[in-house]
Amino acid sequence: MSKKTHIFKAEIQQVLDLVIHSLYSKKEIFLRELISNASDAIDRAQYLGLTDKSVVADAPVWKIDLIVDKDDKTLAIADNGIGMSEEELDKNLGVIANSGTKAFAQALREKQQTNVPELIGQFGVGFYAAFMVAETVTVITLKRGEGQKAVKWSSAGDGSYTLEEAARDKPGTTIVLKLREGMDDFLNEWRLHELVKKYSDFIAYPIRFSDTGEAPKEDAQPLNTMKALWKRPKSEQTEEETNKFYTHLTHDYNPPLKTIPMSVEGAVEFKALLFLPKQAGFDLMMPNKKHGLHLYVRNVFIGADFDLLLPEYLRFVKGVVDSSDLPLNVSREMLQDDAVIRKIKSNITGKVLGTLAEMMADAPETYTDFFTAFGRVLKEGLHNDYENGDKLKALMMFRSATRDGNALISLADYVKAMPETQQEIYYLIAEDLETARHAPHIEALTQRGYDVLLFTDPIDQWVVDTLREFDGKKLVAVDKGALEVGTDEEKAAAKKKIEAAAGDFKELTALIQEHLKDDVKEVRFSPRLTGSACCLVADEHALNPSMERLMRAMNQEVPKQLRTLELNPDHAVIARMKSMLETDKNDTRLADYADLLFGQALLAEGASPKNPQRFTQLVAELMAQV
Ligand code: ADP
Repeated sequence: MSKKTHIFKAEIQQVLDLVIHSLYSKKEIFLRELISNASDAIDRAQYLGLTDKSVVADAPVWKIDLIVDKDDKTLAIADNGIGMSEEELDKNLGVIANSGTKAFAQALREKQQTNVPELIGQFGVGFYAAFMVAETVTVITLKRGEGQKAVKWSSAGDGSYTLEEAARDKPGTTIVLKLREGMDDFLNEWRLHELVKKYSDFIAYPIRFSDTGEAPKEDAQPLNTMKALWKRPKSEQTEEETNKFYTHLTHDYNPPLKTIPMSVEGAVEFKALLFLPKQAGFDLMMPNKKHGLHLYVRNVFIGADFDLLLPEYLRFVKGVVDSSDLPLNVSREMLQDDAVIRKIKSNITGKVLGTLAEMMADAPETYTDFFTAFGRVLKEGLHNDYENGDKLKALMMFRSATRDGNALISLADYVKAMPETQQEIYYLIAEDLETARHAPHIEALTQRGYDVLLFTDPIDQWVVDTLREFDGKKLVAVDKGALEVGTDEEKAAAKKKIEAAAGDFKELTALIQEHLKDDVKEVRFSPRLTGSACCLVADEHALNPSMERLMRAMNQEVPKQLRTLELNPDHAVIARMKSMLETDKNDTRLADYADLLFGQALLAEGASPKNPQRFTQLVAELMAQV
């Protein structure tokens, strides 16, 4: 093979420029990224070696070497892992495969370049971090297995790279960094030692140093302690170490919100170290987001993102699981129906839900932070995890009509705060919080001191079907069916009042009904209004209006469901319309007023009046009359 020059894909050049030029601090993270890649490469070699002995024919002792040449000002990171073929080298280091560079560049701009190290990891562009400190990067690699040839990749990060044949007798990868001016720091043993301690102490393979330009001696003291944190008793897992491990695992530079160590013995045995992050990653709500835990079997790394170990609605949980109950030569497919995996999964699910319940009770503010970040994902569980339904219900939090701003309340707290006369849990599904807070439907309830839960997450539409009841109290939608509130006497009194109004205003309701016959199913008097003149109410089992709009927006067929227009018998507008009717049955303004009432009711729930131009015109005319 002769030397060939390749042009980076346009986007890669962009990323390189961003990485090289926008990062002013934390250049040091390049070392963490390269050591992490070396460790992954060894993990993969070890795993393949379990089934394909030719991969480990040379009986390797796994290692990662840091080799400094002070005269040449080079730092090399060498591993004896899986290595890369020419094709893989070209593909892995010439193209950014997964999330795409556009998203990377955008995220970089949004984060105002402060969190570049975090983004580098998240977007799988760790290798390019090398260009922050190196003017040229050379990769010499030989893939493990029979019949492979060594290849050399080289680039100055300036738009192109070369690929050519190379000489290398042992499989693995060496990455040589020709350091930029001012980067001599990274030639010092103490500095490299410090960085390994800081970022890579728990890497499971020895990281050794030499500044002779040659590989370090086998008996040189490793810079890392190689301690598998999750294997140690809880008392020996310091917060500092677990936090570092968390960063290594997730590329999240904030410490985790909560660390959950697990050591399970009995029917199934495993150890785990789980983390709840503080913040949701940019991709949490993306479909097909990778999730799951890292799985080890007896110290051997089997795979990242093992989704079989976690239900999807816990996809924010990060961590590792190490089990000795599984066979070593496992594959995802084999584990699909594995009883041990199922037991581990249900154990982990129980532990996470239990930890959340404890947090909710003991550290409510922390729990609120958690729920604000991940509540939307957790809610999916209500729909999918029937078995843990009660536990999940207890973990839910919602906004409510009587609580300010974004304050959240649990169902248990809602029930605790219910006045004695209140029998049921009231909720309203609305487009957004502002609309919900001002919805006419909740007036009468809040005035009596009854709180109303406000559901404004798109997922709440689905969630509510599963909630149904809590602590023996039914969940009742305030904008559906005939609402009856209070004690039996109060209910009877309200009913009487409505019946009386229905008699008094019979002609008026008939007129409005006739005028709006294509738009509403019925016109009647309401028990739920105090300040507003009217509102729209659906049948008990009807679709929610916002759900209906959502389905229409998705071009789905929605049967036309006419709702009921409810009027407030105490409102001055109704009395006025009645007297207009009595004065002149044919007063054309009555029809206009009926349209205005209907338009108002729509506006109050965040929708538009049927004919907005006519609506505004009518309002303007009315204003001019006053
Ligand atoms: P990521 O590691 O997040 O996928 P990188 O840019 O760091 O992104 O690396 C790209 C790919 O190059 C890796 O996924 C891996 O396949 C390959 N690679 C990088 N370093 C090594 C190495 N030391 N040995 C073998 N393959 C490597």
